[in-house]
Amino acid sequence: MTDVDLDSLLDDLDDDVATELSVKPEVVDKGHDLDLEKLPIAARRWHKLRDAVAVIADLKSSTQLGLNKHAASTASIYEASTGGVVQIFDEFDADFVAIQGDGAFALFWGQHRRARAICAGITIKTFSHKHLTPRLEKKWPDLPETGLKVGVANSPLLVKRVGVPRTDHQEPVWAGRAVNYAAKAAQQADRHEMIVSGSIWDWVADNDYLAVSCPCGLGPSANIWQDVTIEKVPESDGDREGKLLTSYWCATHGAEYCQAILDGQKRRDDVTDQRTTAIQQEMRRAIRFKAAEVRRDRQARFAGLR
Ligand SMILES: [Zn+2]
Repeated sequence: MTDVDLDSLLDDLDDDVATELSVKPEVVDKGHDLDLEKLPIAARRWHKLRDAVAVIADLKSSTQLGLNKHAASTASIYEASTGGVVQIFDEFDADFVAIQGDGAFALFWGQHRRARAICAGITIKTFSHKHLTPRLEKKWPDLPETGLKVGVANSPLLVKRVGVPRTDHQEPVWAGRAVNYAAKAAQQADRHEMIVSGSIWDWVADNDYLAVSCPCGLGPSANIWQDVTIEKVPESDGDREGKLLTSYWCATHGAEYCQAILDGQKRRDDVTDQRTTAIQQEMRRAIRFKAAEVRRDRQARFAGLR
């Protein structure tokens, strides 16, 4: 039988809050090298990562999928979609993965973190468009429109293991913009779309394999990324002016490009001025120019003063 001394529980919790707020937490700078196994739980100490990339994938219309009519299919849909996303995160060596609600979220840090994160994101949207959704729709033609929506953002992050020491009830808790912004970007995306924050775009924009489409169709073309304002990111933050990718890994070039990006390559022989012309055009728009400036300032402060 569950036996709770409610008054003393609440007194205890109140003491804990008071203690927590009375002491400034210690922050240990771990640079780009964080070992989750070594996170303290009892100590009031946070570990800080200089930069982490968050990738969040949500299932569109997941609340409607939960209706009685679809209850039988909901479990298999969650299993197929979340299972697929987690497998993709693992394959791209995500440094932390968590399943949450109707989707999953991953953090990437250290070497090639942006390359691994973006390639995972594109793989998720390709999986959603070409494999997951067609199979779901074939099996349940009346299903509400569904598919995976992806958001990507980066920032320094603080992490601490929070919970009850010496029990299974403890989890790393992440604090920082990356997680928030990636969630807001995923929320705003439609199915099979990926929205990246302004800072992620700054990195993508310099990579021919990502910024410019393959030669198939009308390529190589830089028109595969659309300007998007991530509405729930504060107006003062340059990350608000992001980009939306609608295209997928090409059946012919996808594997080759994905590997090139993971290997740290940037330049393609068949890309001449497509990328730079697109950036010049973008910078003629005041709001995008201003946001890029704000991001450059933050980057300079980050690089220079720490
Ligand atoms: Zn192609």
